[in-house]
Amino acid sequence: MSMSVDKERVPVPERPPEERRNDFDEVPLGYTPEQAMQEAERCLQCGEAPCIGGCPVEIDVPKFVEQIAEGDFKEALKTLKDYNAIPAVTGRVCPQEEQCEKVCTMGKIGNPINIGKLERFVADYAREHNLEETPEIEVEKVKKIGIVGSGPSSITCAALLAQNGYQVKIYEALHEAGGVLKYGIPEFRLPNEVIDHELEYLDELGVVIEKNRIVGQNISLDELEEEYDAIYVATGAGSPRFLGLEGEDLKNIYSANEFLTRINLMKAYKFPEYDTPITDMDKVAVIGAGNVAMDSARSALRLGADSHIVYRRTTEWSPARNEEIEHAKEEGVKFDTLCNPIKFIGDENGWLKEINLCKTELTEPDSSGRPSPCRVEGSEFTEEFDGAVIAIGQQPNKVFYENASGVEVKDWGGIIIDEDTRMTTRDGVFAGGDAVSGAATVILAMGDGRKAAKSIMDYLK
Ligand code: FAD
Ligand code: SF4
Ligand code: SF4
Repeated sequence: MSMSVDKERVPVPERPPEERRNDFDEVPLGYTPEQAMQEAERCLQCGEAPCIGGCPVEIDVPKFVEQIAEGDFKEALKTLKDYNAIPAVTGRVCPQEEQCEKVCTMGKIGNPINIGKLERFVADYAREHNLEETPEIEVEKVKKIGIVGSGPSSITCAALLAQNGYQVKIYEALHEAGGVLKYGIPEFRLPNEVIDHELEYLDELGVVIEKNRIVGQNISLDELEEEYDAIYVATGAGSPRFLGLEGEDLKNIYSANEFLTRINLMKAYKFPEYDTPITDMDKVAVIGAGNVAMDSARSALRLGADSHIVYRRTTEWSPARNEEIEHAKEEGVKFDTLCNPIKFIGDENGWLKEINLCKTELTEPDSSGRPSPCRVEGSEFTEEFDGAVIAIGQQPNKVFYENASGVEVKDWGGIIIDEDTRMTTRDGVFAGGDAVSGAATVILAMGDGRKAAKSIMDYLK
């Protein structure tokens, strides 16, 4: 390791905003091997490395970063995979600045190590150079596990169980596997080929994925229970919240969930080649300012609309990652902050025509610790918008738990589990991810999947 420390990060090449705002291709290009090694060289290799504790799955960051610095990308991948089944995904979408990078010692004297981009580099390099190895599975597959949902929590749980010799089958409601990674997060942040590659790994491990199967609707939990020794439920939080305002049912007002699913899964932007369109919209208001809102606003922009984030607080209180806000601004998304919709107004055919809004001001903090936005009296105004996307949060999907007797949920729909065993109130049925926590993050859902796999193995011993 070099003695003098470089305080500045090696910059990550990105596509220019004027180019990328016209397509759905990925925005950051990722490090070259030389750049990755140079960035890894900056790591101080701290004795008690705080970055490890900053990662929800406690990846041995100094170890994989040192392996990159030495050019040993294959070993770096092995280190990552000991903790994290899908580093190509987390390297791209983890809120690193709030986790591992937030506590990185280098952050005290300069820029923290770019841990996320290094993680992405290793996984991408390994994929492109066929460095991955499927582990030998020695145990005979006698015990059978059924998994409901195919998002990151299920993928992690399934991989660990399969690696330990269990026979695993996943039931997925949609016609494609991957959960939010596939239907929610747009390809300009997370290309589908990355997820498909991770799903191929599950296939190599012998995990079967049955798509178009809604547990609780066309197959029951009782039926699964007859077939499997244990069940893991990770059905996510894909049910949208609405504002409850007049006119919210007008045409061209979408939940973020439907809007993004139409684009990511149904390829609306390739209409008529694909047959689920999104009607042309000139000016779109995205209500909300979290990651989901940024993804929606940047997608609307790419469909050719004048795209606005309408947010009742200021951007500093936005729950979205800074990187997403910066990317949205660079691409031309407009931020109408301190502003809230009051009602949606339609034309004679029921299409959205304009939105009645008001100005807001920030007052005392609410339960989230952020200042409460209050309506400024007499500030109402009306603005033309022919499209709107409601992105104010999601809650757990109901179809599963409403048809699963013995599985109890909290009043907001989160499945109740025993924190130690990860088991629900029904024997042999375990749960995790957003279905338990409410909308959270990929890495937390993965952490739950890992813990559940271990609990299931203990339960079946
Ligand atoms: P999900 O990924 O939601 O997967 C659940 C799966 O279960 C789905 O495929 C669903 O179809 C299936 N399912 C549901 N009910 C049934 C049923 N009854 N039968 C069969 N299958 C069923 N997190 C980050 O860390 N970084 C980000 O940048 C980020 N961006 C996001 C952007 C968007 C647009 C959204 C919506 C979320 C984002 N998140 C992000 C949050 C993150 O994606 C979730 O926390 C994570 O995907 C939860 O994983 P999960 O496995 O619990 O559930
Ligand atoms: Fe950081 Fe996320 Fe990787 Fe953990 S998984 S080291 S939090 S980027
Ligand atoms: Fe390297 Fe930062 Fe971790 Fe220290 S805290 S070992 S500098 S990544």
